[in-house]
Amino acid sequence: MRKFIVGGNWKMNGSKALVNEISGALNAGDFGPVEIVVAVPAPLLPLAREKFKSTIGVSAQNCSQEKSGAFTGEVNVDILKDINVDWVILGHSERREIFKESDEVVGKKVSFAIKNGLKVIACIGEKLNEREANQTMQVVIRQLEAIRKELSEAEWANVVLAYEPVWAIGTGKVATPQQAQEVHSEIRKWLAANVSQKVADETRIQYGGSVNAKNCGELQSQPDIDGFLVGGASLKAADFVTICRCKL
Ligand code: PEP
Repeated sequence: MRKFIVGGNWKMNGSKALVNEISGALNAGDFGPVEIVVAVPAPLLPLAREKFKSTIGVSAQNCSQEKSGAFTGEVNVDILKDINVDWVILGHSERREIFKESDEVVGKKVSFAIKNGLKVIACIGEKLNEREANQTMQVVIRQLEAIRKELSEAEWANVVLAYEPVWAIGTGKVATPQQAQEVHSEIRKWLAANVSQKVADETRIQYGGSVNAKNCGELQSQPDIDGFLVGGASLKAADFVTICRCKL
């Protein structure tokens, strides 16, 4: 009932040549029931939208919670929609850590993006010291609550959650399928108790953190893993194609 969704997060990597290479590989592929979204750096968005076939989503990696105005360097929702970009990743741990985006800012960005017509991949996840202190769910719930309080029940239809334990991002240290499943299942229970059973049943929860062509098979078999958010491996056409084919 939940369509599996794989996102590729290029972060601050890539080039026009890579858009051509990866769009060529994905446009030609058969991915069965899997939905695909590719998040490229902002300057590459128009080219990506032109090159990837229309069934593949193109995503920004951040956007402002302001409509327009004197915010040098920021990207707003209206411009993204004007270039036919319909997704944005918000709350990635790199935005939270390096750019000091608070839970509150992430909640407001998610709300603003959705109210203005974008679909959002909203990232949540604990750091290593928080996991070691048994605070994983406390942190994840705090991040979720900041999003929940900004959204109506209906608006959750445009949210995909990405559970990304920070200690697994870009480290090669993947969460075990059991570790990921345990948190995903707790997130779903929290959605049922704090939003609604319908939202819990329908919201897709991606796992992110060192997903690759080798470990995607076992991870995808977990009942509450509804997709992946992939960093490093999304820059390699053959690996990303393998990950997108994980349901076949
Ligand atoms: C990410 O950037 O969201 C990510 C999960 O990166 P990686 O797959 O490289 O760990």
